Amino acid sequence: MEQPKYKRVLLKISGEALAGEASRGLDFHVIGSVCDVVKKCVELGVQVGVVVGGGNFWRGVKDGGDQMERVRADHMGMLATTINALAVADVLEQKGVPVRVQTAIEMRSVAEPYIRSRAIRHLEKGRVVIFGCGTGNPFFSTDTAAVLRAAEIDADVILLAKNIDGVYSADPKVDPSAVKYDAITYDDVLAQHLKVMDSTATSLSMDNKIPVLLFALKDPENILRVVMGEKIGTIVGG
Ligand code: UDP
Repeated sequence: MEQPKYKRVLLKISGEALAGEASRGLDFHVIGSVCDVVKKCVELGVQVGVVVGGGNFWRGVKDGGDQMERVRADHMGMLATTINALAVADVLEQKGVPVRVQTAIEMRSVAEPYIRSRAIRHLEKGRVVIFGCGTGNPFFSTDTAAVLRAAEIDADVILLAKNIDGVYSADPKVDPSAVKYDAITYDDVLAQHLKVMDSTATSLSMDNKIPVLLFALKDPENILRVVMGEKIGTIVGG
C-alpha cells in the first residue's frame, strides 16, 4: 500500500474555514468532513497536530478596532480559537478519533495546558492534538502559532488549508492574469508581499526551514492528497 509522504504534520485551519459559507459561527457539516479526512490520515499512521484560528468569532484588530484596547481584543481572539478547538475535538471524538486539546493560556478545567513533551507523547500515541489560544500572546496570529507549534513538535510540514487553492502572483479575483505557483521560496513570498501567511509567520517558517503547503480546504480530501504527496496547491520552501 502507498505510504504517506509525511509522518507528522501540523494542520492549520482558519476560523473562517470552520464557518463554511456563513463565514461566522460554526458549520458542523464542514467540520465533520474535515474530521473525516483527519481520521483517514490518523488511520494511515500520520501524526496530526492542529492549530485552529478564531476569525469566525473574533479578530482582535478587525473586530476590536478603535473600540477596544488591542491586547484585550487579542485576548478575546485567543478565547475564540478555544471555542473552535473544542468544537473540532468534539467532532473528532464522535468519530472515534482520540484527541486532546492543549491551550497556550491555561484553562485547566476546559483543556490541558500546552506542554510540548506531552503534546509529542499524545502524537506518538496516535492522538490528534489541537492547539488552542494561538501563541498565547497578543499581537500574533494563529498562522504564527501554527509555525511555532510545528517547529516545537518537529513537524515535517505545515498544511495550510485555505479558501484559495494556492499562492498566486496577484489576487486572482482582482487580476485575471494572476498565475498560480506550484512552488515558491519564503524570500519571494516576503519580497512580493504575497498573501500566504503574515510576515511574522513566514519569517519564522523560513528561519526554521519548515515547508508550508497551501491548498484549498473546499475539498477536504485535499488534506489526504497532500499528506500522500500528491502535488496540489503551492509549496513554500527554501
Ligand atoms: N490571536 C492572538 N495571538 C495569537 C493568535 C491569535 O492575539 O497568537 C488573536 C488575534 O486577535 C487574532 C484572533 O486571535 O485576530 C484570531 O486569530 P486569527 O486571526 O489568526 O484567526 P484566523 O484568521 O486563522 O481564523
